[in-house]
Amino acid sequence: MKALSVLGSTGSIGTQTLEIVEEFPERFRVVALTAGRNLALLCKQVQRHQPEVVALADPALLSELRERLQALNLPRCPELVAGNEGLCQAAAWSSADLVVTGIVGCAGLLPTLAAIEAGKDLALANKETLIAAGPVVLPALERSGSRLLPADSEHSAIFQCLQGTPWADTARLSTGVPTPGLRRIQLTASGGAFRDWAAADLAKATVADATSHPNWSMGRKITVDSASLMNKGLEVIEAHYLYGVDYDHIEIVIHPQSIIHSMVELADSSVLAQLGWPDMKLPILYCLSWPERLETPWRRLDLTELGQLTFRAPDPAKYPCMDLAYSAGRAGGTMPAVLNAANEQAVALFLEERIHFLDIPKLIEAACDRHRNDLKAQPSLDDVLAMDQWARRFVRDTSSVPLAA
Ligand code: NAD
Ligand code: MG
Repeated sequence: MKALSVLGSTGSIGTQTLEIVEEFPERFRVVALTAGRNLALLCKQVQRHQPEVVALADPALLSELRERLQALNLPRCPELVAGNEGLCQAAAWSSADLVVTGIVGCAGLLPTLAAIEAGKDLALANKETLIAAGPVVLPALERSGSRLLPADSEHSAIFQCLQGTPWADTARLSTGVPTPGLRRIQLTASGGAFRDWAAADLAKATVADATSHPNWSMGRKITVDSASLMNKGLEVIEAHYLYGVDYDHIEIVIHPQSIIHSMVELADSSVLAQLGWPDMKLPILYCLSWPERLETPWRRLDLTELGQLTFRAPDPAKYPCMDLAYSAGRAGGTMPAVLNAANEQAVALFLEERIHFLDIPKLIEAACDRHRNDLKAQPSLDDVLAMDQWARRFVRDTSSVPLAA
């Protein structure tokens, strides 16, 4: 019986994790939950899973949560904590064996580090944390011996493919050390909401357009990232940190059906791929059950139903976020933190309808350009946090004046 701490339990990753726990009650139980603002759903989750601790991001909501839980007359009320400190307590909760990081954005950084310092294994969904703070997170993993199991479907696919190689036992997960014999990674991308749009039509893109993903149902931020292909750009940096492959050997392929979740090319030129319907429950389950495989009744893949799988190269002119991510990854140090924070802030402004979809890459590029002279190659946690704040402020300030065409 594995005990889970689920960070961001009310989100897309969080709720799918809890569905898995309900499907396998003899294998998994929940000891800690954390959430942002959705108290109604959180209370239902507490009632169903009876965790030992519940953390809220916003301390101002704690008394309301307490009242709502008291009204439920639970056999045992969980300990209630809040704020960054509370999130870190839940992430490092002593009875937890594995921490699922389903918080969106760099807000997940401190709880992730708290879990690592407590020696917990992690199911990493919250990619922004690794992207912003790879140079801090990787040494912390090395010190603590925590394992980072990838929940992102592409990185799970790579991880699953690597299980079939001779060095699977010794594959040092996510230490940034090159994985022996791994020559190239191909990350597949659905192409997002604008896959079938002409580049010229993106000038007309609305929030409703950008938040309707053709293949996956996810939180709003990552759905916009998929539309701009920034999600794939972030995943390139994530793959670099997880598998130690240099940026010249990580490629993006548009694969509209989202059946092949990514591929690895090995030293002898053999290519391995992992296939499945686009459903995040499978990569999440594999994090939870690894190294075992659990029997599920889930829909089985039938390629004859599909008939064909297609592939094409992404158009860098249509998706400028992709090249911005490669450049930031190659620059390293604090640059990916700036890229990530500028993107988070720009996407938030876009979702509030204060900037246009096409302004997102312009703001990110401006932030990265401005940061170039201040880049720290070996940043501390404080450097990363400071750059994250700086980039958000820079994007807010820059977006309030008219942007160059
Ligand atoms: P979501 O918006 O659906 O859920 C986010 C969760 O984090 C919610 O529980 C929310 O309450 C909480 N949260 C939001 N802001 C917070 C803050 N400031 N402090 C603490 N908690 C906060 O997002 P999601 O789609 O589940 O994505 C979560 C993470 O997983 C992201 O990093 C995303 O990139 C990654 N991911 C998601 C999917 C997917 O299918 N949804 C796939 C791959 C990776
Ligand atoms: Mg992904």
